[in-house]
Amino acid sequence: MHKMLVAGNWKMHGTLSDALAYAEALRPREGVEVAVMPPFPLLHALAEPLAAKGVALGAQNAFYEQKGAFTGEVSPAMLVDAGCRFVILGHSERRHILGESDEVIAKKLAAAWEAGLEPVLCIGELLEEREAGKTEEVLTRQLAILAQFRGEMKPLTIAYEPVWAIGTGKTATPETAEAAHAFVHEELARTFGRDVRVLYGGSVKPENALALMERPGVDGVLVGGASLKAESFNAIIAAGAEAAARKQEEVGA
Ligand code: PEP
Repeated sequence: MHKMLVAGNWKMHGTLSDALAYAEALRPREGVEVAVMPPFPLLHALAEPLAAKGVALGAQNAFYEQKGAFTGEVSPAMLVDAGCRFVILGHSERRHILGESDEVIAKKLAAAWEAGLEPVLCIGELLEEREAGKTEEVLTRQLAILAQFRGEMKPLTIAYEPVWAIGTGKTATPETAEAAHAFVHEELARTFGRDVRVLYGGSVKPENALALMERPGVDGVLVGGASLKAESFNAIIAAGAEAAARKQEEVGA
């Protein structure tokens, strides 16, 4: 069984004073790992207050080179220097707004691993792809970049984020999430040669977090909007701890 992870992707939100107050208000729980992914300018300032709470720091993106003449880019090595453990790669906003291809994402994965980061690789289908019955085809294609790293014991977390559920208020039902997660776990074993933690992302809120996380194969959540306020993120962390405890009971039963 994978350890449950509740991760908050702040996207392009947050000021220094808000971020410090947020770190102070965070309430991590036993049995669940917690990570916060703020924008780049807040990373250094949050590293210590989050570490003091046992909360991991992550970034939302990284470039595929460690240094050089790449104006405006941030390297994986810089993220490690800022105290990051995680980096989100292949988020749908980067794939669909900024045109990031699987080829570029594969190069970023390799660079993140080289620097010692744990990538949170986001995958997920568009609404028209789901409606055309192409969900599994899309997930297979997005996971295919892992084949070149097959057999390598690199730390990796996958986030299954159906694009139609991100920031829309439309959450996948627990049944839909469970089915997609089962497929992703199988595909990971086939492509990457090993199974890893698979998070669900897409309009996760305190009200639906437990129902999603208690499903088999849902090893945590990647939360956007509802991670922006410590109060709602704390409620999702509590749901993660509850889901982890229930799954532990089932294993022991
Ligand atoms: C995300 O950005 O990864 C995300 C899941 O956003 P939201 O929770 O707002 O849908």
